[in-house]
Amino acid sequence: CGIVGYIGPQSVVPVIIEGLRRLEYRGYDSAGIAVAGGPNGLELRRAPGKLRNLETVIHDSPIDGTFGIGHTRWATHGRPTEENAHPHRDGSGTLVVVHNGIVENYLALKKELIAKGHKFVSETDTEIIAHLIQDAFEGGRPQYIDGRPQSDSPYAGTDSANESEAVVTALNPDGSRPAMSLEEAVRRAVKRITGAFAIGVLSALEPNKLVAARMGPPAVIGIGDGEFFLASDVPGILHHTRNIHFLADGELAILTKEGVSLTDFQGAALPLKVQRITWDP
Ligand code: GLU
Repeated sequence: CGIVGYIGPQSVVPVIIEGLRRLEYRGYDSAGIAVAGGPNGLELRRAPGKLRNLETVIHDSPIDGTFGIGHTRWATHGRPTEENAHPHRDGSGTLVVVHNGIVENYLALKKELIAKGHKFVSETDTEIIAHLIQDAFEGGRPQYIDGRPQSDSPYAGTDSANESEAVVTALNPDGSRPAMSLEEAVRRAVKRITGAFAIGVLSALEPNKLVAARMGPPAVIGIGDGEFFLASDVPGILHHTRNIHFLADGELAILTKEGVSLTDFQGAALPLKVQRITWDP
């Protein structure tokens, strides 16, 4: 229901919690936050009920990072429990997703992913998105044997614009990681979703990067001075910046410490259209 993401020099947790508070009017049943880039890597805190409960959890068990995303959930699939609260992790535990909307084909996708060995810990449709991104990552390697896309992959041939990127990057220096960027994996995943989504994604393996995508529910990007924001609605970040790009359906934004870039789901670059917001919530 509410999404706030932040990357910049301010203390990440307070920026996100305060942003979620300003989106509280939309209603919610649970809340959660994930941060990364701190001493303990990717850290997740979630709680059913009010933001207060989440704050208590964080107070008792503090987290710190250089970038993060938070969410207030209005449950559509699965009860309002801690396990069902966002952010949701992939199976490797290295990436997380927050999501507004509904994945309509989630049962079919879940079945497919379970057959590939994915294990799910929540009842939500959202958890499928995290695993779908992981699956895109893992599909990335065999899919490009000798630089040729392999036709038995569900992703094969869907993204010719970025095949060269996937081939060239091959593996990270430590050999640990499949062959594509986080944004490329997200692009591949969202193309398989039927339904409505505004999502925020981060990976502990790609420090200081947030990826957001929209098809349906609103999402906005805030352009600050050396800091960048993601939110489901303007009031969540307006006290930090009035320079806003309204994400359009089919747009994917990549937020880093250096700035924001925008593509469509095929990977083609799009121009940012930053508007100056003069009204107050
Ligand atoms: N369908 C998702 C869930 O039930 C997202 C709900 C929301 O938009 O907050 O977890």
